Amino acid sequence: MNNISDLIKELVKYGKDKGLVDKEDEVYTINRLIELFNENEYAPSEDEVEFREIHLILEDMLAFAVEKGLVKDTIANKDIFDTKIMGMLTPPPSYVRKEFKERYDKDPKDATDYYYHFSRATNYIRDDRIAKDEKWTSETEFGLMDITINLSKPEKDPKDIAAQGAMKKSGYPACLLCRENEGYAGHLAHPARNNHRIIPITLCGEAYNLQYSPYVYYNEHCIIFNDKHTPMKIDRDAFAKIIDFVRQFPHYTAGSNADLPIVGGSILSHDHFQGGGYEFAMVRAPYEREFKIKDFPNVHAGTIKWPLSTIRLQSSSAEDIVDAADLILKAWRGYTDEDAFIYAETDGTPHNTITPIARMRGDLYELDLVLRNNITTEEFPAGVYHPHQEYHHIKRENIGLIEVMGLAVLPARLKKEMSVLEQAILNGEDLSAKPETESHKEWAEGWIKKYDDINADNIHRIVQNEIADVFSHVLEDAGVYKRTEEGISAFKRFTDMFE
Ligand SMILES: [Zn+2]
Repeated sequence: MNNISDLIKELVKYGKDKGLVDKEDEVYTINRLIELFNENEYAPSEDEVEFREIHLILEDMLAFAVEKGLVKDTIANKDIFDTKIMGMLTPPPSYVRKEFKERYDKDPKDATDYYYHFSRATNYIRDDRIAKDEKWTSETEFGLMDITINLSKPEKDPKDIAAQGAMKKSGYPACLLCRENEGYAGHLAHPARNNHRIIPITLCGEAYNLQYSPYVYYNEHCIIFNDKHTPMKIDRDAFAKIIDFVRQFPHYTAGSNADLPIVGGSILSHDHFQGGGYEFAMVRAPYEREFKIKDFPNVHAGTIKWPLSTIRLQSSSAEDIVDAADLILKAWRGYTDEDAFIYAETDGTPHNTITPIARMRGDLYELDLVLRNNITTEEFPAGVYHPHQEYHHIKRENIGLIEVMGLAVLPARLKKEMSVLEQAILNGEDLSAKPETESHKEWAEGWIKKYDDINADNIHRIVQNEIADVFSHVLEDAGVYKRTEEGISAFKRFTDMFE
């Protein structure tokens, strides 16, 4: 089926079925699409056809557009063009917001369900690419961890990279999170967002917006971003805002990356939080040692059984839990314990911060405060509380919010490396012989001994479990207090300040 009229007919049928195209806008939408394809006529076959998955319809449309010379045959150019197609099916922001609001007033979950399905229907979330990610869960000392090998971002085409290099950098939109991305056509150095719609929300009286992450690392992975392009900061306001968010969306969690390099996220320049409708391993971590906060008898506090050093607060009072978190943050920012190798600052550079995560637990507000420190030394130039050298063959990137909660996002290269490694182990090959296995040799030889029988049926699962084991160790590396007798008593020295 390569007749463009038939493809337009199929696409518009898809749009009507998914609630994107109103019956009244059908002819209008068809005319926008024939305009885009530089056609004067619309003459589809009379036959009724079922529509296919959206990426299949778009692939055929792209093939037509490439043949007709409307678009260059590279991934980046085609992404811009197929987003433009979808933009013609996507209702304007005012419509989506009204729909969201009406549903929200009855049931917040119904509103986010609608908006999540909408964001997938418009192909803003590219389901066919997300499906390429390899995901699994493995039991570890800290419960069932989630692991993802991220394969959904397409490899860059060298022609696109060259064309991008020649482009002048524009300041509009200022970044990938800015509200000005809504409906933006994009170019080779900035993703197309014709099909993107955002939902304005208010947190503690300040204007924010809700959107889903186009990469959905987990179910309903959402981003809550400041209406203004302003740097992120962890302070009392940040705690108050994520608590306000879970009050308004009690079925979602919301957290923030820390606000210092190494222990923070990738976009520190635009204030934002991340949340979603997923139960992370951290949620299931129990209290390990409870303590009292003298000034806040209404707040239940304790450390939890988790590889990163975490204080969990619970309270029925939003104000008390936020104030208690602020007390702990202020204490931590200025806290030095040389015996535990914790320095609030060196040469005037601050090192201590917190990764906070908020959720509702029944009727109680819950706030996990993960203590972070970004000091580096000669021995650990990438960070003392950062994945150590011995694990860099699996994970060398920062431990950000998502990982803190128990979901590893691992680089694409691992997929190939692990499959070569599995084959090499089965064949009894020397692991230093191939570039894909060389860096994994020491690690693999360490666990091969543990198993009586490694065969073609179980090797993949064994490798998955061993990767999860590495993940729990890199989280321990990122923990400022180790889970040893010494570490536990050093952690207690800090929490004793509040009793
Ligand atoms: Zn921005």
